[in-house]
Amino acid sequence: MLKINLDLDGVAANFCDAACKLFGVDHIDSHRKVNCVSEYIGVDKKTFWKEINRRGYKFWAEIEPYPWLKQLVNLVRKYDNNFFLLTAPSDDPECEKGKKIWISKHIGIDRYVFTKARYKYRLSFEPNSVLIDDSLKNILQWNQNQDKHNIPGYGIIFPQPWNDHFVKDKISYLDDVLDELEYKLGK
Ligand SMILES: [Mg+2]
Repeated sequence: MLKINLDLDGVAANFCDAACKLFGVDHIDSHRKVNCVSEYIGVDKKTFWKEINRRGYKFWAEIEPYPWLKQLVNLVRKYDNNFFLLTAPSDDPECEKGKKIWISKHIGIDRYVFTKARYKYRLSFEPNSVLIDDSLKNILQWNQNQDKHNIPGYGIIFPQPWNDHFVKDKISYLDDVLDELEYKLGK
C-alpha cells in the first residue's frame, strides 16, 4: 500500500501562470533552463515576493488548477485513497489561508501538511512513502533520506519543462510509475 504525498504548486496548481499574470508577463509553459519563475519574469526575488504578498491570501486561493487536476487526483486516489497534500507555504502567513481555500475548492480534502520545501523529506520516513513533486531538489532529498534509512519508498518527479522531464502524457506516465512501485512494494 502506497502512502502518497502530493505537491501542490507546479503539480496541481499553476503557480507560474498566476505569478506571470501578476506581473503582466505572458506565461509560456516552457521556461526551460530558467529554474525559477521570478527569473523568467525578470525581477529579483524580493520584488517578486513583495508583489505576491501584497495580494495576500487571494493570490493563493485564486491560482488556476492545471487542466489535468481531476485526472491526477483520481489517479492518486486509485493508489492511496487517503493521500496527503505536501506543500511549502511562502513566508507570508496569509499563504496557508489561501492554500487551504484552494484545496477545499479544487480537491475537497483536509489532509495536508504545510512545511518548508527543505523539510519535506521528513515525511519520507514512513514506510512506503511516495512523494510526487516537480522539484528535482525535493525528489533527490526524499530519495537520499529513504535510501539512508533503508525505507522502500520513492520520490517521483512530476514532469514539467523546468525539470527537463518530458513525457507525452503526464497522467499515464505517473500511472505506470505508481503501478510499478505498487507491484514492487506490494499492495
Ligand atoms: Mg512544486
